[in-house]
Amino acid sequence: MRTIGLIGGMSWQSSKLYYERINQLVADRLGGSHSAQIIINSLDFAQIARLQAEGGWREAGAILANAAQSLERAGAHVIAIGANTMHKVAPQVMASVRLPLIHIGDTLVAALRSEARSRPLLLGTRYTMEDPFMIDHLGNKGIGALVPDRADRDALHAIIYEELIKGIVTDKSRDTVLAMIERSSAREADSVIFGCTEIGMLFPPTEAGLPGYDTLELHAEALVDFALA
Ligand code: GLU
Repeated sequence: MRTIGLIGGMSWQSSKLYYERINQLVADRLGGSHSAQIIINSLDFAQIARLQAEGGWREAGAILANAAQSLERAGAHVIAIGANTMHKVAPQVMASVRLPLIHIGDTLVAALRSEARSRPLLLGTRYTMEDPFMIDHLGNKGIGALVPDRADRDALHAIIYEELIKGIVTDKSRDTVLAMIERSSAREADSVIFGCTEIGMLFPPTEAGLPGYDTLELHAEALVDFALA
């Protein structure tokens, strides 16, 4: 089995889900008492969130690049950034190590394509929904993502940063996000992307009202595929 190197802490609420899901997948596939070989380098999210808000992406990228290098030195065979937003700096991270990086957007494209989705609603942080890095990643593969309108984007961003990263899950926020998805079906979305690794804390993709694609789940599966190949 190959060792997964996960850059975590973005947020730790989602890192624990990655840890659980990756181990569960390995246990399911190998049986017995098998579990994943995984090294998690968990960052202080306050520093990352501050740099995001200030536009300090180069500096944030350097922190992730250092984390990737230490995972490489520690014996990981593959690197993963355990968040969507910080894939904005994936090129900087990739350039800093020799190891392969499994990109969350690639796992998403593969899943959407396998089910012929071409008009997904992209949910995530404001950075993921408004900065072109993820929309272009999909667009380059012929997938034209929609995003919620401005008020919904602001509401979702606040739910992620003020609640989900702190482990707070409320019925009100669940309803807010479900209503957003419902409005986008009317705008002809054919599916919905949980493009933030905390969104699945609100409800599973099977309850989204549209075919749902949870990036955390897809990323975990791709990492386990690599580890067990
Ligand atoms: N985990 C989140 C994501 O998937 C949001 C936190 C962050 O900004 O990294 O985008």
